[in-house]
Amino acid sequence: MSDAGLEPIGIFGGTFDPIHFGHLRPALELQEQLGLESVHLIPCNIPPHRGAPHASGAARRAMVELAIAGEPGLRLDGRELARPGPSYMVETLHSLREEYGAQRPLCLIIGADAFLTLPSWYHWQELPRLAHIVVAHRPGWVVDEAQLDGALRPLLQQHRLEAAAQLRASPAGGVLLQRVTQLAISATGIRERVAAGGSANYLLPQPVWDYIRQHNLYRSE
Ligand code: ATP
Repeated sequence: MSDAGLEPIGIFGGTFDPIHFGHLRPALELQEQLGLESVHLIPCNIPPHRGAPHASGAARRAMVELAIAGEPGLRLDGRELARPGPSYMVETLHSLREEYGAQRPLCLIIGADAFLTLPSWYHWQELPRLAHIVVAHRPGWVVDEAQLDGALRPLLQQHRLEAAAQLRASPAGGVLLQRVTQLAISATGIRERVAAGGSANYLLPQPVWDYIRQHNLYRSE
């Protein structure tokens, strides 16, 4: 096993509008499967690639806190909410690098859908210099090397890791495709259900569903 001081850190950013089991179960499985010291769940402030979130930053943060209460492997990281302006992941990774130092393996966790949009991210070519990229399978999206666009294919061809253990061998630079339990849950689907007067129970943790009802979130889209 590696030096305990250099256990990899997981970084999982999102709008989390709201956080649901499709985020939480993969985050926990990756923490266990990859031997991550912890996974930082980082709600964004202003998402660069989509419209403004429906719930406030404070509400999305509160829902993450409720969702992970009692789960030591997952932690809320409020650095993007505290930073004004668009939440660029490259800036978040620079700040984590400063915190953890140059040697610590950092693992940026993204779903397969998000991975396919990577070339549109701000300064995306810098990301592999700052962290490994761990792609979690998500129902409905396939990461097939032969079908990837011109910018992503070389990234996968040149950086793909075959085994999770390789994440510990360097601080950054690998791309790992990792199977997780497939949960076809999306925040969009949850918001639509709630807006239509339906229930989101069993799609997210009970305390998060209670919070949504108490604060009347997502009732009209
Ligand atoms: P929305 O429907 O509002 O776009 P979402 O459910 O996709 O939201 P985000 O907060 O946008 O959630 O996603 C944050 C990260 O979580 C992204 O990397 C995304 O790919 C990943 N993710 C979200 N849902 C799942 C899921 N069901 N399985 C695997 N990964 C997921």
